[in-house]
Amino acid sequence: MLTEIESSVDSPHTSERQIARLAPQSDWQTQLKEAVRSVDELLDRLQLTARDLDQPALHNAPFPLRVPLSFVNRMRPGDPNDPLLRQVLPSGRETEPQPGYSDDPLAEQGQNPAPGVIHKYRGRALLVSTQACAVHCRYCFRQHFPYADNRLSRDDWQQALAYLSSQPDVNEIIFSGGDPLSLPNDRLAGMIADLERLPHLTTLRFHSRTPVVLPDRLDAGFLEMIRSTRFKTVLVIHANHTRELNDEVHRALAPLRRIGCTLLNQAVLLRGVNDRLEDQCALSRRLFDCDVLPYYLHVLDPVRGAAHFDVDDREARSLWQSMQAELPGYLLPRLTREVPGDAGKRWLNP
Ligand SMILES: *Cc1c(COP(=O)(O)O)cnc(C)c1O
Ligand code: SF4
Repeated sequence: MLTEIESSVDSPHTSERQIARLAPQSDWQTQLKEAVRSVDELLDRLQLTARDLDQPALHNAPFPLRVPLSFVNRMRPGDPNDPLLRQVLPSGRETEPQPGYSDDPLAEQGQNPAPGVIHKYRGRALLVSTQACAVHCRYCFRQHFPYADNRLSRDDWQQALAYLSSQPDVNEIIFSGGDPLSLPNDRLAGMIADLERLPHLTTLRFHSRTPVVLPDRLDAGFLEMIRSTRFKTVLVIHANHTRELNDEVHRALAPLRRIGCTLLNQAVLLRGVNDRLEDQCALSRRLFDCDVLPYYLHVLDPVRGAAHFDVDDREARSLWQSMQAELPGYLLPRLTREVPGDAGKRWLNP
C-alpha cells in the first residue's frame, strides 16, 4: 500500500483530491499527539465555562484527560451534559469517598501467568501489549494501572509466546490493553507473525476503542494485516452512544467488513450517558447501520472514581427487558458483569 501511495503522489496525473483522500490515512499518530489534554482547552473548544458545569471539573487528575479532536468534534458545543463529554471530562466527583469502589475491581493484577498475558477463561487469552489508549474514559476499570506507554519488552514477549505455546487449549488471542491499536502497525504485524507460528491458534480478536475515537487509525497497513493473516479475525469496538458513530467511523469500518472481519461492539452502561431506553435502542440500530452487532453491555466495574456513573442491577435489568421488547434479538447486547473468579462474564439479563 505504501508503494501505491508513493507512486500516486509522484504521478503528475494525481489530482489534489486524490492526495487529500490518501493523506489523512497516515496521520493517526499526529492526531494522537494532538489530542486534547487540558480541561480548559476542552471547555474552550465546546464554548463552555466552568460556570456551566453542575460539578466542578477536576484539573490535573491523576488519570489525566485525554481525547482526540476527532471525538471532541462530535460533542455538542454549549452542552455541559453532552454524553460524549461526560465520558472524558474529569469531574470533581471522582475524588469523593466511594466505599466499595477499589483500584483493581477485577483483581487482574497478579493474574498474569506470563508478562502481558491474562488467562482467566478457557480457550482464550488476553494479551495486554500496551497500557496506552487514544482516549481516557473516566469509568475505565484499568484507570489506576500504570497508564504510561510501557510496552512489552522483547524478553517479555518471548515469555508470553512460550506460555501460549504451552497452552494447546487456547485457540483465540485477544489483543487488549490499554488499547492495542495505539501500537504502530509494524509492532502488531511482528506479534501476529509470531502468533501465527503456534498451530493451535485459530482466531485473533482486538478489543479497541480507537476505531471509534480515532477512525483514521484503521489505515491501509492495518487493513492489509487483517486481510493477509491466516487467523479468523474479530474486532470488538467500544461505543457507548449513538453519536459516537458518525460517518467517519462508518467509512473506516466498511472495508474491514468487506475483508471478512467480524465486527462487534461492547458498551458500558453509564448513568447520564446511555441509561435511557431510547439511548440504547438508538445505539443498537446505529451499530447495525455500521455493520456492527452489539455484543456486551457491561454494568460498571466498581472502580474508585467512577461511582457517579453507576446504574444499579435492578434498573439495568429492567432497562434490558424494555430493550428486548423493542429490538430484534440480534440487536440485543448481553447484559454482563465481570466477577473475579468466574469462568466467563456473568450474564445479568433475566
Ligand atoms: C472479557 C474477557 C475475555 C473475553 O471474554 P468473551 O466472553 O470471550 O468475550 C477473555 N479474557 C479475559 C481476561 C476477559 O476479561
Ligand atoms: S479505551 Fe478502554 S482501556 Fe482505554 S481508557 Fe477507555 S475504557 Fe479504558
